[in-house]
Amino acid sequence: MAQHHIIIGGGPVATNAIETIREFESTGSQITLICDEPAHSRMALPYWLANQIPREHTYTADDDFYQRLNVETRIPEQVQSINPGDNTLQLAGGDTLQFDNLLIATGASPLNPPIPGLDLPGVQSLWSLAHTESLLNATDALKKPRVLMIGAGFIGFIMLNAMYKRGWQLEVVEREPHVLPRMLDVGAAALVENWLAEKEVELHCGTTVQSISQGDGSTKVVELDSGQTVETDVVIVATGIQPNLGLLDGSGIATGEGIVVNDLMQTNFKNIYAGGDAAQGPILHSDQTAMHPIQPTAVDHGRIAGANMAGQKIHYPGSLLMNVLDVCGLQCASFGVWSDSSAEAITISNATGYVYRNMLWQDDEMVGAIFVGRAGDVGMLTDVGMVKGILQTGTRLGAWKAHIKENPFDIRRPYMALKVAQQLAGTTLLGRAAQPRQYRFGGQEATVPPNPSHQVYVSTK
Ligand SMILES: Cc1cc2nc3c(=O)[nH]c(=O)nc-3n(C[C@H](O)[C@H](O)[C@H](O)COP(=O)(O)OP(=O)(O)OC[C@H]3O[C@@H](n4cnc5c(N)ncnc54)[C@H](O)[C@@H]3O)c2cc1C
Repeated sequence: MAQHHIIIGGGPVATNAIETIREFESTGSQITLICDEPAHSRMALPYWLANQIPREHTYTADDDFYQRLNVETRIPEQVQSINPGDNTLQLAGGDTLQFDNLLIATGASPLNPPIPGLDLPGVQSLWSLAHTESLLNATDALKKPRVLMIGAGFIGFIMLNAMYKRGWQLEVVEREPHVLPRMLDVGAAALVENWLAEKEVELHCGTTVQSISQGDGSTKVVELDSGQTVETDVVIVATGIQPNLGLLDGSGIATGEGIVVNDLMQTNFKNIYAGGDAAQGPILHSDQTAMHPIQPTAVDHGRIAGANMAGQKIHYPGSLLMNVLDVCGLQCASFGVWSDSSAEAITISNATGYVYRNMLWQDDEMVGAIFVGRAGDVGMLTDVGMVKGILQTGTRLGAWKAHIKENPFDIRRPYMALKVAQQLAGTTLLGRAAQPRQYRFGGQEATVPPNPSHQVYVSTK
């Protein structure tokens, strides 16, 4: 009997799982995709917001894709509950579907703080297709929209950068003493704050929003607990996210901060898998699990879950926490356990040049790093990539640790000497080169053929 795989969600976990199932299985098995929005990439939303691409370019699948991969779609539909006892799930519309394997890839939703006035028009989150559309509509007729963002976190700043590109007037309120508190330490954040001041983005750190009220016309008046009042056109609430777990109520599927999965991406029910922003999965070089709500983790989770749903037994080595961000022309990156106060650290800071590096060690193993530098600083960008490789491979630095401590701008020599690139090239998630994506917008063909070094990583067959 053909297996029936059901996938809930339409983000990177879902699309990567579908493609991986089809890499291992013929079109014989049945795949049903259920999602309440069109399949798309949230990562592409800032490009739409910045007017660099149309809305449709954020989509990651279309009817032709589903047909070729023999996927039945129920879009837009919502899953209300899951019953692992008899392998069924219920849709909000009333239908009950039966599965052999289930993948829960429901992602996360914005978490709103209890601030009076959050329900006013012009006050919104900025996480989804609908949110992006609503912000574009709200600002359409304004010459230079004024936007106040509550929260200075990673995703908020990605969208801030898009609004900066449009030339909008921007202001940010952050409860913590500095910006990007879950991505940068205080020294790195200080550079970002100076940079934003130069770019005329006004910051209010260490203060919270007391209330939002309607001002004249469509303007909003935002009261801060510092006593300041700010008038703005739009308020964006970017104060964090929570995994979408409501459909699990009463199911017996184990959760911690998210859905707990093992290194096969299985939940406590062997035929029920989970991944991405909804899942709490293995961490690289550790026996712990954690939430890593970032795109690379979602892609890996989807591929591992898809392979195992298709009958493989492929173990996931775990995800590395990594955030890479462009803050209005200043590049910031942090990796691994960058905030470990027990680790040995070396810090380089040049405030006027906007250069910051903090590298952390346990013994001779680099365990975390933070980088800040101008977008044009190519040396910094390649060092970021090499440090990421050192962390991913868990390469012991031996005597090269002292070299990096004395020469923190020479990452290249230890990277080459320790053959980190060779280790990375020999490591593939599924034990073979990745396949090219099966979806192309409008059925377009790639115009630039992959070069030989690219073919090492992505099969051209
Ligand atoms: C604006 C923005 C920019 C980002 N930029 C970056 C970046 O630069 N780098 C990076 O690493 N990460 C970035 N991220 C984070 C990244 O997009 C997420 O980590 C990733 O999308 C998670 O993938 P997912 O498949 O788990 O969930 P999602 O992509 O969130 O997909 C889940 C889907 O499931 C649907 N769904 C939920 N519940 C149900 C239900 N009960 N029934 C049916 N459907 C349901 C949701 O509506 C959603 O469409 C960004 C996120 C945003 C919002």
